[in-house]
Amino acid sequence: MAASDDARASGAAEIPEGNRHDLRHDLSPDAPDTANYADSEGAFGYVHSYETGSRLDGPGVRITLFVSGCPLRCQYCHNPDTWHFKDGVRVSAEQVITRLRHFAPALRAMGGGLTISGGEALVQVAFTGRILRAAKSMGLHTAIETSGYLGARVTDDYLQQLDLVILDIKSGDAETYRCVTRQELEPTLRFARRLAELNKPVWVRFTLVPGFTDEETNVEQLAKFVAPLKNVEWVEVLPFHQLGAFKWKALSLDYQLAETPPASPELVARVLGQFRDSGCRAR
Ligand code: SF4
Repeated sequence: MAASDDARASGAAEIPEGNRHDLRHDLSPDAPDTANYADSEGAFGYVHSYETGSRLDGPGVRITLFVSGCPLRCQYCHNPDTWHFKDGVRVSAEQVITRLRHFAPALRAMGGGLTISGGEALVQVAFTGRILRAAKSMGLHTAIETSGYLGARVTDDYLQQLDLVILDIKSGDAETYRCVTRQELEPTLRFARRLAELNKPVWVRFTLVPGFTDEETNVEQLAKFVAPLKNVEWVEVLPFHQLGAFKWKALSLDYQLAETPPASPELVARVLGQFRDSGCRAR
């Protein structure tokens, strides 16, 4: 049976190839509510898309799988079409693994691997766990990008499947974090400490939004938290941009940052300087 026949027989769609900036909307109107989802088996999951040839999401050339579902509501989110399962497509883990196997020799040759991003990789923890285990068995480097908010869901066995965690820490100050994400900062910090205890390689990502996350004290608090964590290989400062604005409009969401300018090179340099002065490797 061909992969597409398999997909039809199981009621799953084809895994959509695309781009993180593609808009996905209402592709699975009958999907379960993301907040109450119990992902016990992980044989099927909801995904936004996958990208080949990414150089942004870990070492080497990678496949990045964008899964659906996220408990945060970041005001600067570039991909609000990943928040709910209903906007993605339901695919089987087997389809994803079959596609990955096809690319595996090239990924190994280019020193790359698989990164699972989103959305939030840890909403569908059984689904992503299956895919990561399969990727490891193919000899691929594995990574997830996560806010860490759901880190308590993850077993040590899950973490053993990972070579790298890209941890988005949206703010150092708890009040700013609440304002940015509508959630609490502490679960992310707890996850970061656990990763440090396990000596798991981490890249911390911080999105720099002018007038929002750029307060010196906010950056300072994050830098002071990260600097002693010896497992953190890099702090990456991501300058805010407006590439996701059209998605907010298309989804009829209230976008508060419509007038916010991109982060200037001077602002990026100041923030990188703050991280470096605190002892972090930052880029
Ligand atoms: S964690 Fe990522 S996907 Fe979720 S709302 Fe924030 S930026 Fe968007």
